Amino acid sequence: MKTAKEDARLPDAIRPDGDNLATEQQNGKLGTEGVSRRTFLGVSSASLASAALASLAGAQERADTEKAEQDHSFSNPGPENQPLLDENPNSNFPPLTDHGNITPTWYSFDLTHKRVQPGGWTNEVTQKVLPPSKDLAGVRMRLTVGSFRELHWHEADEWAYMLYGNCRVTCLNPDGTVFINDLTKGDLWYFPAGYPHSLQGLGPDGTEFLLVFDEGMFSEDTTLLLSDWLRHTPPSVLSKNLGLPASAIKKLPNKDLYIFPADPPASLAQDKAAVGGRQVESPYQYTFKLSTMAPTKQTSGGEVHIVDSRTFTVSKNIAMALVTIKPGGLRELHWHPNASEWQYWIAGKGRMTVFNSDGAHTMDFNANDVGYVPKVAGHYIENTGKTDVVFLEMFAASEYQDVSLNNWIRHLPPELVEAHTNLDADAIDKIPAEKLVVIPGQPRP
Ligand code: MN
Ligand code: MN
Repeated sequence: MKTAKEDARLPDAIRPDGDNLATEQQNGKLGTEGVSRRTFLGVSSASLASAALASLAGAQERADTEKAEQDHSFSNPGPENQPLLDENPNSNFPPLTDHGNITPTWYSFDLTHKRVQPGGWTNEVTQKVLPPSKDLAGVRMRLTVGSFRELHWHEADEWAYMLYGNCRVTCLNPDGTVFINDLTKGDLWYFPAGYPHSLQGLGPDGTEFLLVFDEGMFSEDTTLLLSDWLRHTPPSVLSKNLGLPASAIKKLPNKDLYIFPADPPASLAQDKAAVGGRQVESPYQYTFKLSTMAPTKQTSGGEVHIVDSRTFTVSKNIAMALVTIKPGGLRELHWHPNASEWQYWIAGKGRMTVFNSDGAHTMDFNANDVGYVPKVAGHYIENTGKTDVVFLEMFAASEYQDVSLNNWIRHLPPELVEAHTNLDADAIDKIPAEKLVVIPGQPRP
């Protein structure tokens, strides 16, 4: 028997009052988790449980795990990080279907160093801390009213999502035309590699945003800063280049600015006029009003907004899906044929199982966490909380692509599916044929 302490720590997945045991019983389906709960409760017949298990590949492995779950095997008399285990019940007590050891699928911005300067702060989740993420890295940044992220450029493309407040951005095209615009919560920007840009917090309370770069090892410490270049160029050369006397060159900053406070800017119209108006206006739109875009797909379980180079033309190398899942809902079983997935969790609580050839691993996710799914690895995301899950799926790709398991099964001859699954034509017919993206489900009590 488990001790009271162990029982209290059981995740919902295997707790007697867990998520969808009732639903599984109603449907007459006995998932492996159902087997686990029933045998744990001692309410199911051994023959029923063993019949269900025998039909599964790796039945012995799962039977062993199940046995371990019921005896003293899960006990841990040694040290443990209780707050971390409480955040990750599905990792601490994995679903019986998990197996093997796959590369990490989870990290959190809240574990990283925050670089704080007058005017704001930044932190980042890169390949350094999430080694399998070779294609994308993420940075968060806060700028108070008027404060700048200094003029700079870098070798990766930059995609951004506004998490809070208001921001003004500038970006120069190589042909000399210039882009200036203001963004609000929920909007996007995109700056191609090498294009110089600036960011500034606007009223009433500045801004906070997520940046995503199409290089896993990208770091904010690897950007090229205006101030850094100026103070590493001989003053006589600067004087010649800028056409300014030595007295003016002496005024240039003698340290990196990076993030620094300043007065709030003039109005957008005034700033546009100040740089030369329509004559020098960029023919390209580097911002996207995601905050006013209609969902790409909506069900009673949630919705998704997809933005890639087809809708946001400058976003050539980074594609995104913003997913909302209502309590109990499921981002359906799927994979992405063209890219790995880098997730940013904006709100809510959920779990994801990543299935790959070397294993299957379930992790829990909360706001400010990062999820990672290798290219073509199968996965789902289930809302396990009482509020909406909102997260970003990010891809180093020009177009968003996914393959839905349901869609696949329903677009094959029923005899073919029956031969693979033992499901008869009636059962197969009940599987949604449409790619629903988010499937509604019952929230937990
Ligand atoms: Mn940048
Ligand atoms: Mn996905």
